[in-house]
Amino acid sequence: MTYRNPRLPIPSRRALVMGFGAALLAAGAALAEDPPGGAPSLDGQSPPRPKHYFRRPKPKAPPPPAPPAPPATVHVEPVPGMDPELAMARLMEGNGRYAAGFSAHPHMDMIRRADVAVAQRPIASIVACADSRVAPELIFDQGLGDLFVTRVAGNVIDDAVLASLEYSVIHLGSTLIMVVGHERCGAVKATIDALDGRPADEDRGTLISVLANLIAPAVRAVPAGVPDRLEAAISLNAAYSAADIFSRSAPLRARVLAGQLKIVAARYDLDDGKVTPALGKS
Ligand SMILES: [Zn+2]
Repeated sequence: MTYRNPRLPIPSRRALVMGFGAALLAAGAALAEDPPGGAPSLDGQSPPRPKHYFRRPKPKAPPPPAPPAPPATVHVEPVPGMDPELAMARLMEGNGRYAAGFSAHPHMDMIRRADVAVAQRPIASIVACADSRVAPELIFDQGLGDLFVTRVAGNVIDDAVLASLEYSVIHLGSTLIMVVGHERCGAVKATIDALDGRPADEDRGTLISVLANLIAPAVRAVPAGVPDRLEAAISLNAAYSAADIFSRSAPLRARVLAGQLKIVAARYDLDDGKVTPALGKS
């Protein structure tokens, strides 16, 4: 049995290991030191052995410190999303504030930023034109984490946009998809011009025709004799995009039919700032 002074603290296991390791290192270093001129021969007659004869491998450098662990991520279990009608009401209330010039700019402070830094639960998914005057967070008076936004000129639905929407609904719990077309949309206007045989010279060699090809069905569907062809095409284009989402995505279509998801088209008025829901699947 080993006597231990009860007034001395019990060394921790870590301290014991560290002490033992330091002793080993000291011993290794001593063994690695050869006498000057090399180590003597074992029989005293042979020439001295070279200095490296007894040399022990130097202790390995301690391994580099492990990289810092990534910040903990929060896995959000799927939860029932907001009622689609309630989400719609929230959007329209926000647009009402914006149009009236009384935006509240909610959810823009540091507390909100910290809240949504680890998880998001947007109340709606917005497909909007890339037009600089149609910023969804502004025109719906929403803040960080409120809207899942995909923007592309002409608010068209290609595979990437559709995949983004599916992600927002299936993984983030969004229950409302709104496609927002807007007044005097340049992408729709360019499509009309192209279909009328008046493509812009500066568009040659660009990929702008990719957008026109997606918008063209809506333009062609405008009845002849409509007084404002561009306005009609803009509304139809948003409606076609909403219908595209419904028809091309089986998972989203199933949610719409189950009453869990609402898909609507809308028109944004550049002049008065109002968003008007229009045609679309719901
Ligand atoms: Zn536009």
